[in-house]
Amino acid sequence: MILEGKQIIGQDTVAGPGASFQAVDPANGETLPPEFSSADSQQVERACQLAWDAFDAYRETSLEERAKFLETIAEEIEHLGGGLIERAMSESGLPVARLEGERGRTCNQLRLFANVVRAGEWLDVRVDPALPERTPMPRPDLRQRHIALGPVTVFGASNFPLAFSVAGGDTASALAAGCPVIVKAHAAHPGTSELVAGAIQTAAKKCGMPEGVFSMLFDAGYEVGTALVKHPHIKAVGFTGSRKGGLALQQAAQSRPEPIPVYAEMSSINPVFLMPKALEARGTDLAQSFVGSVSMGAGQFCTNPGLVLGLKSSALDSFIEEAGKALKDTPASTMLTPGIHSAYEQSVAKLAANPKVNEVGRGLTGEGENQCQAGLFTTQGADLLADESLQDEVFGATSLVVICNDLDEMKRVAEALEGQLTATLQMDEGDTQDAAQLLPILERKAGRIMANGWPTGVEVCHAMVHGGPFPATSDSRSTSVGSAAIFRFLRPVCYQNLSDSLLPEALKEANGLNLKRLVDGKREG
Ligand code: NAP
Repeated sequence: MILEGKQIIGQDTVAGPGASFQAVDPANGETLPPEFSSADSQQVERACQLAWDAFDAYRETSLEERAKFLETIAEEIEHLGGGLIERAMSESGLPVARLEGERGRTCNQLRLFANVVRAGEWLDVRVDPALPERTPMPRPDLRQRHIALGPVTVFGASNFPLAFSVAGGDTASALAAGCPVIVKAHAAHPGTSELVAGAIQTAAKKCGMPEGVFSMLFDAGYEVGTALVKHPHIKAVGFTGSRKGGLALQQAAQSRPEPIPVYAEMSSINPVFLMPKALEARGTDLAQSFVGSVSMGAGQFCTNPGLVLGLKSSALDSFIEEAGKALKDTPASTMLTPGIHSAYEQSVAKLAANPKVNEVGRGLTGEGENQCQAGLFTTQGADLLADESLQDEVFGATSLVVICNDLDEMKRVAEALEGQLTATLQMDEGDTQDAAQLLPILERKAGRIMANGWPTGVEVCHAMVHGGPFPATSDSRSTSVGSAAIFRFLRPVCYQNLSDSLLPEALKEANGLNLKRLVDGKREG
């Protein structure tokens, strides 16, 4: 597959005058051709102007046209075939099966949003008809629908080069909402980004979409991303990555003359509570499945179980011993980038050097470059309560088991935790009462609470919440996975006493779109 290393701005493919950079194969540290050129401020301006020019036309495309556009993007990504997977493998070090699965998820996600668009429920149409005879004051005719926020900038994630990147959940949900999208490509997988961006560009042309509906810019540094976030035509931001990066972009968005929402998914250690009866009954199985979850994909998941809590007992001792044994045989695997690998090594070294932390075991060391050696550590509940740094995310295959003296201490530790994407209860029937005491705390802490599973693996569906209080995300009222992600890029508008001819189709008296509307407080249909 031929890569040009150029920006995609509307229907143009143009070289950037800024600094050039190359992708690195993390498996061997070698740079990969071609050179990618960074955009400059004029190209940022052009992409933003095109997106703004496209906005009014794009947000009023029919539900069918927009759904077809999303489906065509999925088809065009599939048409890229094995070349896309090969490039993504060499840029991320991820294995073929994982990337093929991720491509499937990416395309299914686009198709899910196509169906969401068609159904039109996201418009949330409410009609309160006029009551001219009402006393003492007549009621005017009031109608509400949701409209798109405006052009959105998306920062793709390094750990999902397909499903959370150029055509990932942020882009799919923003396009579904009617927002043009400008992606700042992640520098770790620029070739993969170029291929997927080309697929979106082709789909936009085939579907007759306004030109500025999609652009993608490269940057060797942070200038382009920051300029996009600060540009007055950009009205929202989607981000997945580090806490430092997410906070920097949020600050940039808040310091604008017109502040805008930033939906940043940043940092989570996903506590798992091993309840006593479950631990007694199936501690060995739990230890095996825990090690599988923590080491999967070199632990490079935002839902990695980085913290495990249990009550002091021989059952917990056995769990730790079994998990340590399983972990010692865990092969090392290649991490996504040299930067992520060195951050992992530093975080593990910091944890190991903490006098209140004991090392249970480390996994196998690897032969090649940027290998993630798994790690398991323990600490006491009181020590975690005394030292906030023990909550720091270690992005990779490492987890910390917290030994609590009793349920009260476990509750205190739960209460002291930062916001999380997930919280998990490993529990049996006899644990229900204890779990019920934890639940109100976990509801305040996490976006998803699960029983008897592991947090890695996020279903893309309607009920999913992939979000949570800070620092899991910058806005706990939203999800970045699942159909509800569309609401991040919408806002309600009320139309008072507008004549039927002026009203948008969704609000006209005839209900030509056949929407289920809330009329005078009652659901139609
Ligand atoms: P990152 O450093 O936060 O970068 C993510 C994206 O944001 C990249 O496109 C990056 O630009 C851009 N960016 C970062 N800081 C910025 C700033 N100050 N101003 C403007 N743009 C900025 O994340 P990463 O490189 O993927 O991984 C680094 C660490 O992030 C990992 O070690 C891990 O701790 C965390 N991480 C978390 C998740 C999660 O799911 N929450 C996922 C991946 C990584 P460049 O492309 O130019 O670098």
